[in-house]
Amino acid sequence: MLLKNNNGSLKDVVKSSNVLTDIAELYCYAEDSSNSKKTTKTPDAVVFVRSIEDVRKVLLYANKNKIPVIARGAGTNMVGACTCPEGGIVLNFSGMNRILDFNPVNMTMTVQPGVILNDIKSLADKNGLFYPPDPSNFKVSTIGGSIAQSSGGACAFKYGTTKDYILSLTVVLADGSIMKLGSNTIKDAVGYHLNQLIVGSEGTLAIVVEAELKLIPKPESRRTIVGYFDTIEASVEAVNNIIKNRIFPATIDFMDKNSITTVEQFFPCGLKTNKEALLLVDIDGFETSMNYQQNLVMSALETAGASFVDVAVNDAQIEKIWTARRSSFAATAKLAPDVLSDDIIVPRTSIAKMVRGCKDICDKYNLKVCMVGHLGDGNLHPQIALNLNNESEFKQYFLAKAEIYNLAISLNGTISAEHGVGIDKIEYIGNIIDNSVIEHMKKIKKIFDPNNILNPGKIFKI
Ligand SMILES: Cc1cc2nc3c(=O)[nH]c(=O)nc-3n(C[C@H](O)[C@H](O)[C@H](O)COP(=O)(O)OP(=O)(O)OC[C@H]3O[C@@H](n4cnc5c(N)ncnc54)[C@H](O)[C@@H]3O)c2cc1C
Repeated sequence: MLLKNNNGSLKDVVKSSNVLTDIAELYCYAEDSSNSKKTTKTPDAVVFVRSIEDVRKVLLYANKNKIPVIARGAGTNMVGACTCPEGGIVLNFSGMNRILDFNPVNMTMTVQPGVILNDIKSLADKNGLFYPPDPSNFKVSTIGGSIAQSSGGACAFKYGTTKDYILSLTVVLADGSIMKLGSNTIKDAVGYHLNQLIVGSEGTLAIVVEAELKLIPKPESRRTIVGYFDTIEASVEAVNNIIKNRIFPATIDFMDKNSITTVEQFFPCGLKTNKEALLLVDIDGFETSMNYQQNLVMSALETAGASFVDVAVNDAQIEKIWTARRSSFAATAKLAPDVLSDDIIVPRTSIAKMVRGCKDICDKYNLKVCMVGHLGDGNLHPQIALNLNNESEFKQYFLAKAEIYNLAISLNGTISAEHGVGIDKIEYIGNIIDNSVIEHMKKIKKIFDPNNILNPGKIFKI
């Protein structure tokens, strides 16, 4: 038995009331938001860790017994990154959800891994500061999961992704040793940036137990300009026009006709359903600059042929239009028993080809697709509604997915902008990263985790 053997029992290592081993409870940890069905294996145990010491003790035990350890935040990643294909111990961080320090002068916040992103954003916001990374589900996802996936979101175009806001990380390695990586200063040129290596490593190199985050001043004002277009190409041209006008919007998000009509079907909020594309352009900065920026963005949209343009000025109007955009995944999920979302990215010059290509591929395989995306980055989310229990539909989906990835690669893009690889994209990473590079990654993994206990079977097979 993995959890009780000659080396003792997991329940001797941590308080037994913090350990789940009941099969009914373990089922809740067999899957995550990926819906991938690549594995539905349950873990052998779930430990509700409460302290760094708990994490250290579990890792010491697991390493000695060569038991897989899978960290889990809110379980909202889209790539099966916290599934348990080999069983093992899941670390549940909901009990490590405290903000440990907030320093408005240094513009830093130190947090435990289970803190929900919305709590970080809200505390910063109340104090005139801003933590920009904003995966659409930031009201539920954790900072630990976001660091491990290097989450992005709508604001990435102007403000970057999670990796740009990590000053230092305290981590526990597979052998139980504790390390602080990085420093608490804005600049740091001493040695290799191992903290950045942990960001995006999907829980395969180390367990994050504390993070010091960088904050920035909150822009004084924000407005959302909404533009509707009769063709996809016109919406992409509008993005290029905005940049030509030397405006740097916080976000340039996109919804296609299927997304617009699906959101209106299930969460009506007044979107215009007879248009092919919708852009949401957020401008921010000093109030005195708002009208100036707004006029330039509106003229960029109109020059590209926008058939309707509107502006959300106050918080309630902005929240309404963004709720519509963020509801797109949930609305698509109502079209069929399941929904799978992807996150390819291509250079801006290839966006229109990528959108059209995705639609053609999904049509060819008879799949319903709603497209949203962060057009400033070239990052697209085809959301495919299907029934995973329908074998032929499932097969069609895999054929479509491979073609969508090949198209992204042929357009000089890549197969993941922000969701990561997890278990779902393992077989495709060789299409985009040279074997020699993957071999180097494996050597790095071996240094951090020689027994391959940390989230095994993710990113690549050892
Ligand atoms: C509706 C919806 C919309 C989304 N929109 C976006 C978006 O716009 N942009 C975007 O980038 N992503 C998006 N995502 C994906 C997801 O929200 C992010 O990846 C998210 O930040 C994951 O956080 P989590 O707490 O759910 O992590 P989990 O899913 O629990 O874990 C993710 C990974 O982190 C590892 N991990 C968790 N905690 C730790 C830790 N303490 N130490 C080491 N590893 C750890 C896990 O092992 C796993 O590999 C979306 C997901 C959903 C469901």
